[in-house]
Amino acid sequence: MTNNGTTDQQTGLIIEALDTAKRAVSSLINSVDADNVYDEGHDIADTKAPQVPIDKRWDERKFTAKLVNPANRRKLSVIIVGTGLAGASAAATLGEAGYHVKSFCYQDSPRRAHSIAAQGGINAAKNYRNDGDSVYRLFYDTVKGGDFRARESNVYRLAQTSVQIIDQCVAQGVPFAREYGGLLDNRSFGGVQVSRTFYARGQTGQQLLIGAYQALERQIAAKTVEMHTRHEMLELVVVDGRARGVVIRDMVTGEIETHFADAVVLATGGYGNVFFLSTNAMGCNVTATWRAHRKGAYFANPCYTQIHPTCIPVSGEYQSKLTLMSESLRNDGRIWVPKSGEDKRPAPEVPEEDRDYYLERIYPAFGNLVPRDIASRAAKNVCDEGRGVGPGGLGVYLDFADAIERLGRPAVEAKYGNLFDMYAQITGENPYETPMRIYPAVHYTMGGLWVDYDLESSIPGLYVTGEANFSDHGANRLGASALMQGLADGYFVLPNTINDYLASGPYAKVDETHLAAVEAVEAVRTRIDKLLSVNGTRTVDSFHKELGHIMWDYCGMERSEEGLRKAIGRIRELKAEFWSDVKVLGSNESLNQALERAGRVADFFELGELMCIDALARRESCGGHFRAESQTEDGEALRHDDEFAYVSAWEFAGEGGKPILHREPLVYEYVEMKQRSYK
Ligand SMILES: Cc1cc2nc3c(=O)[nH]c(=O)nc-3n(C[C@H](O)[C@H](O)[C@H](O)COP(=O)(O)OP(=O)(O)OC[C@H]3O[C@@H](n4cnc5c(N)ncnc54)[C@H](O)[C@@H]3O)c2cc1C
Repeated sequence: MTNNGTTDQQTGLIIEALDTAKRAVSSLINSVDADNVYDEGHDIADTKAPQVPIDKRWDERKFTAKLVNPANRRKLSVIIVGTGLAGASAAATLGEAGYHVKSFCYQDSPRRAHSIAAQGGINAAKNYRNDGDSVYRLFYDTVKGGDFRARESNVYRLAQTSVQIIDQCVAQGVPFAREYGGLLDNRSFGGVQVSRTFYARGQTGQQLLIGAYQALERQIAAKTVEMHTRHEMLELVVVDGRARGVVIRDMVTGEIETHFADAVVLATGGYGNVFFLSTNAMGCNVTATWRAHRKGAYFANPCYTQIHPTCIPVSGEYQSKLTLMSESLRNDGRIWVPKSGEDKRPAPEVPEEDRDYYLERIYPAFGNLVPRDIASRAAKNVCDEGRGVGPGGLGVYLDFADAIERLGRPAVEAKYGNLFDMYAQITGENPYETPMRIYPAVHYTMGGLWVDYDLESSIPGLYVTGEANFSDHGANRLGASALMQGLADGYFVLPNTINDYLASGPYAKVDETHLAAVEAVEAVRTRIDKLLSVNGTRTVDSFHKELGHIMWDYCGMERSEEGLRKAIGRIRELKAEFWSDVKVLGSNESLNQALERAGRVADFFELGELMCIDALARRESCGGHFRAESQTEDGEALRHDDEFAYVSAWEFAGEGGKPILHREPLVYEYVEMKQRSYK
């Protein structure tokens, strides 16, 4: 009996009833009207790409962009956040040019950036194989592969620049694989019919990053670059409408610092970890770009996520990371499932006539090398039909028996040895003897901060490079093109465009006493205090995992209006619960990974909601984003170019406000827009 005369049992029932009522009310409040979750804004356009024939645009822009004379460069400073391929290459190049660069990363060394994980290769239109490749074909493949949702001018420049990247990296000593005659070797990646992918075994990202890192270290030694490791950017400082600085937390001491410069570059990578499980490094997050978004930078195409078809399947509820098996494996591996869902024989015992090499069957022209979105969806389809293999039926085979017979095991080992070892260590199975099991997983985010042809965001003086920008990949990135874009941005594009902005500098001096800086620091401190003071009952990871489930179920490979509405409501509820019940142990004044994660997950909630809103607004199937309401009679993805051939660029409308949708219409002058076919 309690003091007021009710029994414990009655009290329990009352609490339960109140909880149910609370949930019902909050569901009602959060039930989302599709037409009522965002506001319409005005159309926008890229104004920087010159209006000349496409093959002349980049040269023309380099010519018209203002230059800064070498003596004046020393007086100008640039902050670069991120030391992956996009950031390290930019910092090294701008340092070499003579600017004063301040570089930041949250790892303990610049060369631990997530870029190091890249396995398969980097594209370039060198045509070493003499198989019909050209700058135009790389441009064409990329626009088509992106399902006609990328900007032509940018993609053409990317293809042009690709050839310079390889020369630069070879000159740095990057050990690309070579063929018998001494030329650099190539292999094929999905969505193309030529061999243009340069590689360094299954460690291409690592070798490229070592190249960029060496160049960066040289500038650090020359004192043109000031390196700050273990420093996390938590806020952007905008002064008089221009990006002028960042608020940074020293992750070891907890000290909150401000840094200022004439321009700021974000090269902070992608946000695939919003799904909790992904192939991204555990630390990858959206905080830097999300904070910039809240300060006025438009966020473009947030719902475009790449689901990679060849990852090791999820093995349990307690898993926190997924492992990629490089796309290069599809050069020689054949993908299949048993013809019948009833067939439970081990793979080597299933005879040829009972196997369905479904990609070769459905897409004979490209076979196992269809683009990632097509391969992922096909894998999902055969698993949905009950023909998947392995635990839970969520897997398909990637089989090397033919390749081993044709080429011999030593040749297969030479090409893919480290990937096979990795697979064996993770699964305990020997892929030389039994086929690998693979399943699609979140891998890359095509969305990111909106940038113009100069890579400048909608905040003057804020530039965005690499995976952090909405990039050149439209609704689907072709394999081996992220490394190409990151290095194109960092070594070649940014160093030729940012000078146009810097030429008007140095801008008026700003320091930590400026009101904008004081407010930004105050916002960071308040947020940290809030996270530490909730003292609730749930771990940060439990919230992150639940958010990830919502995102995967409703904003993953297949989306529907009903599902997306539900997801938006659930994310809002979960976010409210996070801020009232999260438990973050420890303090700010020391290394505190729980605190770091809490801040990142808090931003993932806001991003996750915007991703669902973006997906809701885009009522078409496009790339790997299958909208259930928009399909052809035979179940293929159906685009609606008349309505949706645009980049969605979202403006933050303040706390509690509805995001504002600006559209950048996409015009195709060189590649005819048509329904993609890889058959
Ligand atoms: C397993 C795997 C394999 C891949 N293989 C290939 C491949 O073969 N070919 C290909 O083209 N692409 C591949 N990709 C994609 C490619 O690796 C990435 O898109 C690319 O490396 C991203 O480079 P980046 O420089 O933009 O960002 P990242 O390499 O992610 O670097 C981000 C940097 O930003 C810093 N940072 C982030 N936030 C903050 C903050 N708030 N404060 C301070 N610093 C911050 C980090 O410390 C880091 O230095 C692969 C991806 C994965 C996951």
